Amino acid sequence: MEEKGVDEKDILEELEKYRKMDLKYEDGKIFGSMCSNVLPITKKIVDMFLETNLGDPGLFKGTKILEEKAVSLLGSLMNGKNVYGHIVSGGTEANLMALRCIKNIWKEKKRKNLTKNENPKIVIPITAHFSFEKGRDMMDFDYIYAPIKDDYTIDIKFVKDTVEDEEIDGIVGIAGTTELGTIDNIEKLSNISKEHNIYLHVDAAFGGLVIPFLEEKYKRKNISYKFDFSLGVDSITIDPHKMGHCPIPCGGILFKNETYRSYLDVNAPYLTETKQATILGTRVGFGGACTYAVLKLLGREGQRKIVSKCMDNTLYLSKKLKENGFETVINPILNIVAIRDENYKETCKNLKDRGIYVSICNCVEALRVVIMPHIKKEHIDNFIEQLCEVKKN
Ligand code: PLP
Repeated sequence: MEEKGVDEKDILEELEKYRKMDLKYEDGKIFGSMCSNVLPITKKIVDMFLETNLGDPGLFKGTKILEEKAVSLLGSLMNGKNVYGHIVSGGTEANLMALRCIKNIWKEKKRKNLTKNENPKIVIPITAHFSFEKGRDMMDFDYIYAPIKDDYTIDIKFVKDTVEDEEIDGIVGIAGTTELGTIDNIEKLSNISKEHNIYLHVDAAFGGLVIPFLEEKYKRKNISYKFDFSLGVDSITIDPHKMGHCPIPCGGILFKNETYRSYLDVNAPYLTETKQATILGTRVGFGGACTYAVLKLLGREGQRKIVSKCMDNTLYLSKKLKENGFETVINPILNIVAIRDENYKETCKNLKDRGIYVSICNCVEALRVVIMPHIKKEHIDNFIEQLCEVKKN
């Protein structure tokens, strides 16, 4: 660090140079991200709440109320009545909080000699996001990985047999898998969890702001779209910085009610509120404010329109792919398309060389494309053209 400061103008010019190296959503080249452009109102909100800190909520009482209001709105979307939760840094922190809750429930059972498990043990589909891998590593969980069926959703029979054979502390289901956008049958998982009194967490980080807004014409007969608190689910991850048009960091963790809080709180003696449940300490206050504002601004109708546009574009891409001789892994369920390709890694790299950024699947040899709100039909046309060129060579 130098002794004398530099002119603001010079610093901003330097930063601008670096920012220009970044991709921009609106250029229509980002096909593999679950984040997108934010709604313009959120830029004003970030400015308004920039110096707030929800790690010390007693100092920022209004901001804290807005977080509670945001949780309550998300909770009502998930058919919850007295939902407790937080607007956190993203899906990873949200899932980690659910895992911490499961671990601490197990700890309590252990203290009371009510479990033989040496570590907390959960059943989780192989399609789960890698944030769960971080949680396993940090919290010494034992995971039993449930296979997926031909439709790429969790094998319910495997889960049923496992909870009958073993002592299980938690079940995880995914409502909108990262790779394919498939929806596990949460209704059936919830029946199993209720019957055996097992904690059920639903990761709807992506799907939570898509599935409730799907128009009937996009729904398929054999899929169970229900995944909310009305089923008796214990916790749900739902991220406003994915399909909720909010700035990063903005994730959501919801628990069925306030009682779960006792498994999360640690003492925070030197703060204005002496208990803290989130994993991050000092944390942004604008997440709750943005989530609340966007949900109020759009209403269900506004969000439905955005989701329908994404789904329309998804089906457009799917049709164009077929017309050009490509095969999709499944008929898209949400706004995610997986394109079968034996050389998917090479294709991904070749597309990148042409300035098109897709991602890849892990559970199947395929390219993965997410049709977020920033993707327009002309971007899809360009993508198809580039993909055809790449595969021709
Ligand atoms: N859960 C699911 C289903 C996801 O798709 C993702 C990210 O793509 C996450 C969790 C993690 O979210 P984040 O990257 O916001 O931590």
